[in-house]
Amino acid sequence: MQKFTEIAALQQALTTERNQSRTIALVPTMGALHTGHLSLVEIAKKNADIVVLSIFVNPLQFNDPGDFEKYPRDLKDDLNMASEAGVDIAFTPSTEEIYSHNRVEPVALKAGKAAEGLEGEHRPGHFDGVVTVVNLLFNIVKPDSAVFGEKDFQQLRVIQEMVETVGAPIKVIPAPIVRDSESLALSSRNKRLSSADYDIARRIPKSLLKAQELVKSGEQSSSKIIDEVSAILLGDNQLSIEYVAICNPIDLKPVMLVENEARLLVAAVVGDVRLIDNCALTTS
Ligand code: AMP
Repeated sequence: MQKFTEIAALQQALTTERNQSRTIALVPTMGALHTGHLSLVEIAKKNADIVVLSIFVNPLQFNDPGDFEKYPRDLKDDLNMASEAGVDIAFTPSTEEIYSHNRVEPVALKAGKAAEGLEGEHRPGHFDGVVTVVNLLFNIVKPDSAVFGEKDFQQLRVIQEMVETVGAPIKVIPAPIVRDSESLALSSRNKRLSSADYDIARRIPKSLLKAQELVKSGEQSSSKIIDEVSAILLGDNQLSIEYVAICNPIDLKPVMLVENEARLLVAAVVGDVRLIDNCALTTS
């Protein structure tokens, strides 16, 4: 695996690959890699000849500076995992390299309509930071495709919208959510859960499963499903709900009735750890 911290050296290596007609897939991450990230690498490998994994904890997308500071970082372990997973190129730039490298114009972008509500409402500015850095990474790497996890479902929609808006020739590939043995969605933040809080966090996948069962048994009312999900999440307390929403999977606007396919999205705080999860709700 080749490793780069500088844009110029990375681009030189990518030019060599492109000159040999190799296609390139990008997997953007913030590090603290786990099996969820590696599943994105696997999908990238199936879609391109060369997989570039970026690791960059993007300060612009943290609306809470404490969360940015507490974000787990372990570059040595990450690089070992990436190499074992078959990543061809790891790109681990500094903040300075990303945001002030030979740049004259301001680079800040604004996220589009998909960023309204949900995470966009609870984390002001978050998606502007996400589209800004992803657009920069796209411009630096110029990949043929890029893989994003459905774990961050709204982020996936925001990126798809950004690519459509700017007309970038990049295929955005969604990756299914990877869960642990207790069905909790893998997240770098799970490391910060105490074992008691982990047990509480397990209510999240349980509540999603209940919603799927309700829909399968004919329940279509979003408010009834949301009530049941919220009751499971709240349990005997120790978890606070930020939102439970049932939305159209394309524009992410709330729907009153689950017809055909909808998306259930949840954000909750356990201890001082904020967790998000989501699932499809299908009537058929
Ligand atoms: P992050 O490092 O948390 O910014 O995540 C980098 C990429 O990995 C994003 O596209 C995430 O959606 C994706 N990802 C994170 N956790 C998971 C998971 N449990 N399953 C699938 N994809 C994930």
